[in-house]
Amino acid sequence: MISNVSLYTNSHGKVTIAPLPAGFTIEPTYDSYGRRINYLRISLTDACNLRCVYCMPEDMTFRHRSELMSDEEMLYLVKIAASLGVTKIRLTGGEPTIRPGIVELVREIAATPGVKDVAMTTNGILLDKLARPLAEAGLKRVNVSIDTLDAEKFHRITRWGYLDDVWRGIHAAEEAGLAPIKLNAVVVRHFNDGQDMIDLAQLTVENDWEVRFIEMMPFGEVSDFQQTNVVTYAEMKARIEAHFGPLEEASYDYVDPSRPFRIQGAMGTLGFISSVTEPFCQGCGRVRLTADGKLRLCLLRDDEVDLLTPLRAGASWDELRALMRDGAYHKPWGHELSAGKFAENRAMNQIGG
Ligand code: SAM
Ligand code: SF4
Repeated sequence: MISNVSLYTNSHGKVTIAPLPAGFTIEPTYDSYGRRINYLRISLTDACNLRCVYCMPEDMTFRHRSELMSDEEMLYLVKIAASLGVTKIRLTGGEPTIRPGIVELVREIAATPGVKDVAMTTNGILLDKLARPLAEAGLKRVNVSIDTLDAEKFHRITRWGYLDDVWRGIHAAEEAGLAPIKLNAVVVRHFNDGQDMIDLAQLTVENDWEVRFIEMMPFGEVSDFQQTNVVTYAEMKARIEAHFGPLEEASYDYVDPSRPFRIQGAMGTLGFISSVTEPFCQGCGRVRLTADGKLRLCLLRDDEVDLLTPLRAGASWDELRALMRDGAYHKPWGHELSAGKFAENRAMNQIGG
């Protein structure tokens, strides 16, 4: 467990983190629109073992380790978030499973008072070995990214990935009880917007899984590609219905960005994440922590509050808590994609999706 005063060495030399209080009370936090902030997504690293074409360029350079939050720094910020009413945490990246010490980190996050739910979004490549230890450490669920069931296309879209590894990972996750399994597919025009969508949707007929089709979002360097090749929610749904018949609406909590439907008689569900054409900002209680320690207030906007610099400069628990609370209060209502404005300062792997 982390001690009350964490004094450790990183590549800058000695860094002192202000003492943690012996305990903390939990107070709910709301933004200026009255949305309750209860969900934190943490990018554990910007690095990845794949290079998906819609996410990053193949020659992507990553941040030096010293720029990223150490485990101690991340756990300190997680505790502050929990004290502000965050109950749900999703670990993402880059690829979260490549972070050294991931199992212990999950154990510490899951043990944080107030944190009720820890999930992960992963490409699944390393889940074969990690699913069980992660589940034992307190991970509840995984979303695995898989854009096609065609092995050759999968290799092309991820540039470096092999479909068999992901399949092994999905099955290991299911055996480890990381349920319900959710599969994420980003739909790219002329690439996986035809038979691939049908094959993925078919998986829900006999598996109690949720397959979620995601509209591709524009970011930073690859925004031209992303904008040219986006397939809208309406198109995706029409394509699925042309094959399977009308989809039934499944129950919807207005919090999850995925709108759930069911193929008639299917065990699982289909979801559509329509961030570009039909945003779901009214129910959004999410904030994000980038791997370099910035509180990012909306996935699709550049607004961020630096927490790591003050943390390393010795800011107190109360000062950091005030920074996080004020940042969350100023969470923007939503993005401005329809006005042609999109986030430019980071690629998707640096934010975490
Ligand atoms: N590496 C992990 C993975 O691929 O699941 C976690 C990080 S990844 C950035 C999180 C999610 O964002 C994945 O489901 C991925 O497919 C999705 N994603 C990446 N780039 C995207 C984009 N431009 N638009 C929409 N979703 C994107
Ligand atoms: Fe890596 Fe995930 Fe981005 Fe693909 S989508 S390159 S797996 S971070």
